[in-house]
Amino acid sequence: APFPVRLSGPVIKGFGRGSKELGIPTANIPADDLSEKYPNLETGVYYGVVALDPKSYENENDSNGKESTTLLPAVLSIGYNPFYKNTVRSVEIHIMPPLTSPSPTAVAQPKFNRLPDFYGTKLNLLMLGYIRPEFDYVSMDALVEDIRVDCEVARQSLLREAYQRYLVDDGKATEQ
Ligand code: ADP
Ligand code: MG
Repeated sequence: APFPVRLSGPVIKGFGRGSKELGIPTANIPADDLSEKYPNLETGVYYGVVALDPKSYENENDSNGKESTTLLPAVLSIGYNPFYKNTVRSVEIHIMPPLTSPSPTAVAQPKFNRLPDFYGTKLNLLMLGYIRPEFDYVSMDALVEDIRVDCEVARQSLLREAYQRYLVDDGKATEQ
């Protein structure tokens, strides 16, 4: 796909299983119009940045009270989650802490403070790269382990010089 790929939509209820228990919540947005918009989009795991409505992310508002859109790194899957054998395609986005400095190892990855739920708010996503296809797993632990690696790959990738222009929000970065 020709990156960046823009996706957006209201945050909807997902399958309500797994992700919160896995410790990896994923904000789901509708996948309905994907094939129309991007007919050749591969299923798999991608990375990108997300703009959340500041009202759903109050702690991150500027101290001077000025509203700003917060851009956060994200890892997402588009597809059927073979481990869960979904029959409909979903777009599931895990949002990560801001990129400040490189985390030297996956182990040192900052532990994310769960955000307050933001169902119903509009999520704008800028997909910047492809990580891998979807796999099935023998266990939930194996699945979680791979997602952790994906998160690290996403963060390290987004630190590359060429992406820096996407990380500063000029108000246009993730505009649809
Ligand atoms: P669902 O199956 O409804 O998608 P999840 O267990 O995947 O439920 O949790 C996703 C929800 O959790 C999101 O819709 C959002 O409201 C909330 N959430 C909290 N923190 C995050 C995060 N870091 N990334 C994505 N969603 C988050
Ligand atoms: Mg989800």
